[in-house]
Amino acid sequence: MTDHILIVDDDTSVRNSIREFLVIEKFKADTVNSAEEALDFLKNNAVDIVITDILMAGMDGLELTDIIKRDHNTDVIVITGYSGDYSYEEAISKGASDFIFKPVRFEELLLRIGRVLRERRLAKDRAQMLKKLKEMAITDGLTKLYNSRYFYTQIEMEIDRLNRYGHPLSLLLLDIDNFKAYNDTYGHLDGDKILMRLGEIIKKCLRTMDSAYRYGGEEFTILLPETTLDEAINVAKRIQVKLSEEKFLSMTDDKITITLSIGVTEYQHKEDLSAFITRADKAMYLSKDRGKNTISVLSSKEVK
Ligand code: GH3
Ligand code: MG
Ligand code: MG
Repeated sequence: MTDHILIVDDDTSVRNSIREFLVIEKFKADTVNSAEEALDFLKNNAVDIVITDILMAGMDGLELTDIIKRDHNTDVIVITGYSGDYSYEEAISKGASDFIFKPVRFEELLLRIGRVLRERRLAKDRAQMLKKLKEMAITDGLTKLYNSRYFYTQIEMEIDRLNRYGHPLSLLLLDIDNFKAYNDTYGHLDGDKILMRLGEIIKKCLRTMDSAYRYGGEEFTILLPETTLDEAINVAKRIQVKLSEEKFLSMTDDKITITLSIGVTEYQHKEDLSAFITRADKAMYLSKDRGKNTISVLSSKEVK
């Protein structure tokens, strides 16, 4: 993508000559003749670098720099005619990336623009890498659902919110039935594929505010904010139906049926996090006791 540069100067000949030079150097270059116009321009255009004069009628270049650094992801190179009037430190302290004196020497300007653009690219790469690392830290690599560490931070946050605003919060705990036997028959790699597919199926059954986690090896949790017990049961049913409609094939082309034992429960105001999770776990084990492939519900009154 062509780098976009905006030149801000109330001297027509200066801004036009810089623009002509930058266009020859294959930049996309625009000009405006005041700081106010520059701010207007930035509202509607993504600009990589603003090159601004300091002394201008109305808002000066240092104030402009200050606003740009506060409101935009744009670098600023400051130009001034009088070396004594404004210090390098002042421009830099406003967030300018560089500083250049009039008369502008084009070769020098080009070098400074090149350095600023290189640093911009590095900063962008670093920000992307950090974002990816943050995602990796909360994601389960196999199923692409969130991991159990993130489950605990999210459930605590939801409970906090609930205790303040009183909205309902429900929790599902899901465990694959007879998964050990599956692994023993078809191998661990085939088992991994089932886990991946299950992750996709679960995601498709959720609304945007719901979140699903790989809680343990073949166990999953789903947090359902703003959701009462009855609605949570419907989500569990939806997953069960979707799973029953899936056609799983093993590597040896056997038709496979995968089922889940699901526990459903709703948070009770002010109760312990561990009591809440334990109840979902108990409800799930109730499903196992009832012969698996089923949904069991426990409210706080049923567990003493
Ligand atoms: P139940 O119906 O009572 O839940 O029986 P189960 O066999 O599913 O449960 P059990 O707790 O006895 O065994 C869980 C199995 O899940 C054993 C383990 O091999 C498998 N498992 C756990 N994590 C993974 C994984 O990451 N990949 C694969 N392929 N299997 C896993
Ligand atoms: Mg298990
Ligand atoms: Mg199991």
